[in-house]
Amino acid sequence: MIAAVLTIGGSDSCGGAGIQADLRVFDRFAIKGCSAITALTAQNPNEILRIEPSPAAQLEAEIRAVFSAYEIKAVKTGMLYDAERIKLVASLMQELHTDKPIIVDPVMLSSSGTRLLANEAVATLVGELLPLATLITPNIPEAEALQSGEGEVDACALARELKLPVLLKGGHLRSNTLLDVLCIDGEKVIFPHNRQLLSGDAMHGTGCRLASAIAASIALGQSLPQAVAEAVHWHQQDMVSR
Ligand code: PLP
Repeated sequence: MIAAVLTIGGSDSCGGAGIQADLRVFDRFAIKGCSAITALTAQNPNEILRIEPSPAAQLEAEIRAVFSAYEIKAVKTGMLYDAERIKLVASLMQELHTDKPIIVDPVMLSSSGTRLLANEAVATLVGELLPLATLITPNIPEAEALQSGEGEVDACALARELKLPVLLKGGHLRSNTLLDVLCIDGEKVIFPHNRQLLSGDAMHGTGCRLASAIAASIALGQSLPQAVAEAVHWHQQDMVSR
């Protein structure tokens, strides 16, 4: 069977985020990419005009079709849309992808301000999918929504609470030096980088691309810390060239 990475997420009509972005990243890492679509979005980098969820039976059929023909080395999830689709994905992962890497990008809100995950589905994400995850890659607002307490988020406190490795992305910090913080087994690894003045198309989908690069590196045999380090580095170079 051919080795592949599967992305489960939303389709982005402008191609910059979601599964279109993910598949391009898998290509850049020279690994075959497969996709299963949770929702169709009509959007451009400035606004999301319409979202149509995929029928659950279609999402299930796409996931089953891919697993029956490819050796899925890693799964990346992005926009999951609602609790029904999260439950479906979690149960299919337990059936088809047992004990294999799952990178969860907990997409909640687009930069343009539209919700991509129903508010009430956050608890389902935490209760049903995160126990199966290898790594979660929240930005600061997503981490705030995931933590049970109030106040400033800390990657290791969140990792302890969720009982899984966390890559906390610092893109929402105000400083010129941004810190992405990885916490695995209580150990912190900090990846500092300069803020890049990106907007519009260049900015759109940056979170999707980073999580996909991690999934691709893991699928190619890297350990989790190596995969994160390589993906963060690749992503920084990729942003400079945009
Ligand atoms: N649309 C889809 C389908 C996505 O998966 C994402 C992010 O994961 C976005 C939009 C949001 O992209 P951004 O916030 O980078 O504009």
